[in-house]
Amino acid sequence: MAQLSPLLKQATPVLAERGEGVYLYDAGGRRHLDFTAGIGVTNTGHCHPRVVEAARAQVGTLIHGQYTTVMHRPLLRLVEALGDVLPDGLDTLFFLNSGSEAVEASIRLARHATGRQNIVVFHGSFHGRTMGAAALTTAGTKFRAAIGPLMPGVAVAPFPQAYRYGWDEDEATRFALRELDYVLATSSPVSDTAAFVVEPVLGEGGYIPAPPAFLEGLRERADRHGILLVVDEVQTGYGRTGRFWGHQHAAIRPDVLITAKGLASGFPLSAIAAPAALMGKAWPGSQGGTYGGNAVACAAALATLEVIRDENLVENAAVLGARLNEGLRKAAADHPEIGDVRGLGLMQACEFSTPDGEPDPAAAQRAHAAAAERGLLLLTCGAFGNVVRMIPPLVVDASQIDDALALWSDALGDAAA
Ligand code: PMP
Repeated sequence: MAQLSPLLKQATPVLAERGEGVYLYDAGGRRHLDFTAGIGVTNTGHCHPRVVEAARAQVGTLIHGQYTTVMHRPLLRLVEALGDVLPDGLDTLFFLNSGSEAVEASIRLARHATGRQNIVVFHGSFHGRTMGAAALTTAGTKFRAAIGPLMPGVAVAPFPQAYRYGWDEDEATRFALRELDYVLATSSPVSDTAAFVVEPVLGEGGYIPAPPAFLEGLRERADRHGILLVVDEVQTGYGRTGRFWGHQHAAIRPDVLITAKGLASGFPLSAIAAPAALMGKAWPGSQGGTYGGNAVACAAALATLEVIRDENLVENAAVLGARLNEGLRKAAADHPEIGDVRGLGLMQACEFSTPDGEPDPAAAQRAHAAAAERGLLLLTCGAFGNVVRMIPPLVVDASQIDDALALWSDALGDAAA
């Protein structure tokens, strides 16, 4: 008899039978408040009727329109629809299946377009698990241990982690940009550096929003040195942070934008977007794949974009994100083990620390497990595993936020008992 590999590590013991909106129902019929959204994917909620209908209709028409063999309409329509939401100038798209694959595609494009090979990433980064993406991932040694040698040509500069440094954001930003200049002066020569790859909010690395001045400092250096600014919006896109794209909290425009997760409400689909002139520096056939731009996934993505627009999900994320953040701060006031509460929009987190300010993963894991016991599904993150994150579907309403906060307070009590 076959069995699932023990390689799989599951955050909760739930056997999900059915999903609806912000809820998952398990095999025993129990309802769970899902503040994981499948790691920030089901922004329109589980099985949104419009997404279900669009996918169902496409399944009966054309499932596998293989885009390196034939073109299909859902892909063309999606290109047009994304044109309305992508930043100005990033009007040329290439489609893949997962975030990691899109990251790989961006590395290829950056190397093709610049003729340079090095990539600079920022400490705590998560860009995926495929071997190229893993080389860009510094969110924890568990993602890198014993799989080397990894792709060479990757330099790491600090990400402004104000809380961890014990500084304010401005100090952390000044330090990180100075250190980036040092990396370019000492280890990754400008003439060899193709791209900076950065997340607008450090995701798996601990839910740390990039201060706008940091992203603006990267943009200025990228322009000055002919380096591409690649923004990984895999977790931060589609309104998650209260703006359509996470980088829009800063006054920057990326050269390449990487998107996946929320794009198709759970169907595997990802893309890179860039100006036509940049994409044009690579050649036809330099990238591809069997399943990229799958017709059903594209149909679901089209419906997803319509739901985001028609249900004002970006604004909902901003308003309810503020409510969630305020509630988390109130709960933290009674719980000194929570050293920091932070986030943008509906991408919020609590960092657990010992009384002397060291990471406290045991406390985070106790709170996470106690919340799951009470029916609130959450995830942890951070290099030390001491951050609990909350990323509900963006269709969440105020009473569901309040329910989650009540469950969280109770869970903190359970965990401390
Ligand atoms: N980039 C970021 C910012 C991510 O959060 C993730 C997934 N957590 C990835 C890339 C990789 O995406 P995937 O798991 O779809 O390969």
